[in-house]
Amino acid sequence: MNLEHLLTDEQKAIRDMIGKFVQQEIMPVRDKLEDDYGLVEGIHKKLVDLGIQKGGYPPEYGGTGPGSAVTLGIICEELAKGDAGISLSVGINSGLILGPAAHAQNKAVLDKFVPDFCGDKVNYACLSMTDSTGGADTENPLFQGRGISTRATLEGDEYVINGTKSWPTNAGIASVYLTICNTDPSAGDEGIALIYVPHDAPGLSFGKQEPKMGFRTSVNAGVFYDNVRVPKEYRVAGPGHDAHFYYGAMSGTQWHSSTMSLGISETAFEIALDYTKERRSGGKPVREWSMAAGILADMAIRIEMMKASVYNFAWMMDHPETYGPPFSAQMISKAAATRIFAADAAVWITNKAAELMGSNGISPEYHLEKYLRDAKITQLWLGGQQVSRYRVVRGYYDYVVA
Ligand SMILES: Cc1cc2nc3c(=O)[nH]c(=O)nc-3n(C[C@H](O)[C@H](O)[C@H](O)COP(=O)(O)OP(=O)(O)OC[C@H]3O[C@@H](n4cnc5c(N)ncnc54)[C@H](O)[C@@H]3O)c2cc1C
Repeated sequence: MNLEHLLTDEQKAIRDMIGKFVQQEIMPVRDKLEDDYGLVEGIHKKLVDLGIQKGGYPPEYGGTGPGSAVTLGIICEELAKGDAGISLSVGINSGLILGPAAHAQNKAVLDKFVPDFCGDKVNYACLSMTDSTGGADTENPLFQGRGISTRATLEGDEYVINGTKSWPTNAGIASVYLTICNTDPSAGDEGIALIYVPHDAPGLSFGKQEPKMGFRTSVNAGVFYDNVRVPKEYRVAGPGHDAHFYYGAMSGTQWHSSTMSLGISETAFEIALDYTKERRSGGKPVREWSMAAGILADMAIRIEMMKASVYNFAWMMDHPETYGPPFSAQMISKAAATRIFAADAAVWITNKAAELMGSNGISPEYHLEKYLRDAKITQLWLGGQQVSRYRVVRGYYDYVVA
């Protein structure tokens, strides 16, 4: 899909800048990043110097003002062409986590946490959502919060939080944890509470870093809440409103996942295209055999559809006056459809790319195998592909469970 007619001059300049950055700073070291977090951190620092981290934060704190999903999409897609783990952290750090507080105009939260993201040091945020009792339950929209097992209790002027989260990205290195809790599982949406917790809150601790197949340039670990106390002002907005922000975050994070599926797929396609041009079989390049050409065409078709879907949804998020708020059943449904299609397409494309490359498809020397490993993760997180399908159907009919 050609985006030229959609993008502003500023967005085109950002796309070109990040594209160049990826070619110069990430591609030459992409095979070393997974074993050296110092290199990853160095890349994050250069992105801070380019002003990416403060994107979307309020100007009064030094940020660049209200973010645009199209702009964030461009940044995350371009970065994922180089390394999806870096793209993931950048998306999380530049506004996705503190966005709810900005929308709710929660001054206590903004004053406490935003300045560090607008400074000149690398700073990480964490969406602490997946309960150890099961991410699918935590994120199943049919449960209206009943599947959230982390508890928050109001005692005087403080919330007391108890529970265990598994796998949040940036756990242990983040300065702020947007913690998904429940104050009363029988209260439905009214019981859902989103509470910001600073990294140094007494009672907050972290597990060991999870070893994993893909996204190895981002950090995952357990987060333990043992009578963690925070001021009641650190709750995003209050009963009912927090549920809206939770469901809105569902739209945002599902869509964010699809930007990474897209970037991964585009590079996998390029690698396969180049490889099958040079590699010969039966006296001609592999890609000139019709069966290979058909596979390359099917890869291109999926990328075209994915890109159209990713930027269509970004445009919809940027225009709530036309499409409604991100927490509506229709928006969540479209975000989930975009994410499911993109993740399945990324897995299909990277697998087919490997097939077209034979044994070299899984050789680190040819780089494809890294994208193959990363692609799979985009199907697994955020409740997985099955739970995401409940989000899709809820945009079409009122599917509830008792
Ligand atoms: C690289 C990476 C980054 C991550 N980042 C974050 C993060 O930033 N923040 C965070 O909070 N979490 C994060 N996670 C965790 C992730 O979101 C969860 O692992 C995911 O939601 C699935 O939860 P689970 O592993 O507990 O699976 P389970 O809840 O055990 O579910 C397993 C599978 O069972 C099936 N299933 C379960 N219930 C149903 C049902 N009702 N109907 C149909 N099928 C069902 C689904 O296929 C599901 O995928 C991350 C994970 C990875 C791998």
